[in-house]
Amino acid sequence: MEKADIKSLPFEQVKGLLTEMGEKPFRAAQLYDWMHVKLADSFEEMTNLSAELRKSLQERASLTVLRTVRVQTSAIDGTKKFLFALPDGNLVESVWMRYKHGNSVCISSQVGCRMGCRFCASTLDGLERGLTAAEMLDQIYRIQKLTGERVSNVVVMGSGEPMDNYDNLLTFLRMLTDEHGLHISQRNVTVSTCGIVPRMYELAGEKLQITLALSLHATTDEKRRSLMPIANKYGLAELMEACRYYAEKTGRRLTFEYSLVGGVNDTAQDAQELIGLAGPLGSHVNLIPVNPIKERRFVQSNRQAIEAFKNKLEKNGINVTIRREMGRDIDGACGQLRRRHMEEQRG
Ligand code: SAH
Repeated sequence: MEKADIKSLPFEQVKGLLTEMGEKPFRAAQLYDWMHVKLADSFEEMTNLSAELRKSLQERASLTVLRTVRVQTSAIDGTKKFLFALPDGNLVESVWMRYKHGNSVCISSQVGCRMGCRFCASTLDGLERGLTAAEMLDQIYRIQKLTGERVSNVVVMGSGEPMDNYDNLLTFLRMLTDEHGLHISQRNVTVSTCGIVPRMYELAGEKLQITLALSLHATTDEKRRSLMPIANKYGLAELMEACRYYAEKTGRRLTFEYSLVGGVNDTAQDAQELIGLAGPLGSHVNLIPVNPIKERRFVQSNRQAIEAFKNKLEKNGINVTIRREMGRDIDGACGQLRRRHMEEQRG
């Protein structure tokens, strides 16, 4: 019999499993609390469960715990980057950032990625597989244990396309914000997508109060296609329609992410067109100076161009932030730490 991936099961399903094992429902609450609040690393630790129950859990279920392979701490701002090994040996990275309003963790949703965005390091070797709910949760649990500090914000903006791992993503989001678990406020959770239109409609119907961030990066179909292959499948018109639907249905404003690439998408005209897209939706724009990766020739826009771009948006009433380049001394860009580690291992 295959073991149940018990840490990926929502509370009701853990209850079901324990009932099947002849246990009382309150045992499920205790077990769930050990896994998702006390963040236990093994069944043995769960001392208020009988030795017999712990033994049968051992036999019937596996408890996903990631192994910490590497931690890098930025000397500039204290940002920490973690490299974790999944139970099957695959590696993923996560980032911990300290902000005035609390600690934020950026997690990966897949090993690798198949979206092929031209400037992104995560996608260079394609997709290995999607992460289970437990593997997404445990990135946060490990970090909370390692730093000894509470995590209050979670962004699904690491490696992978979360909408390409939709079912596990949904289970993860529900468990992360469930009152039986870490109970992080849905409003403090952001999911970033390259724009898989049917999944955006589906997500809009899930009754979640999370923030959806759309990786826009260009304001014309032609330019977007040159940066993001997904734009060949979904054009800007239907993408914007999906955004409108999402905002209307959930009452939540979207964020547009816009990575500024020198000489590619950072002109006054680009800014003007971006105003035309973000304005009517009331979207917040998050500008990301592109983080150059050695496999590609993209360069950052210069400071002046970034400031001019931002000012133009602001003058037109757009709410805009420039993503602080946190941890830029520690392989900040998505997928860079994992790649470097794997290259070093290969020698
Ligand atoms: N698959 C999701 C999450 C990707 S990572 C998505 O596409 O939204 C989060 C953001 O960082 C995305 O907007 C992504 O396009 C951007 N990004 C990836 N690599 C980058 C780089 N080297 N420089 C700047 N932004 C990058």
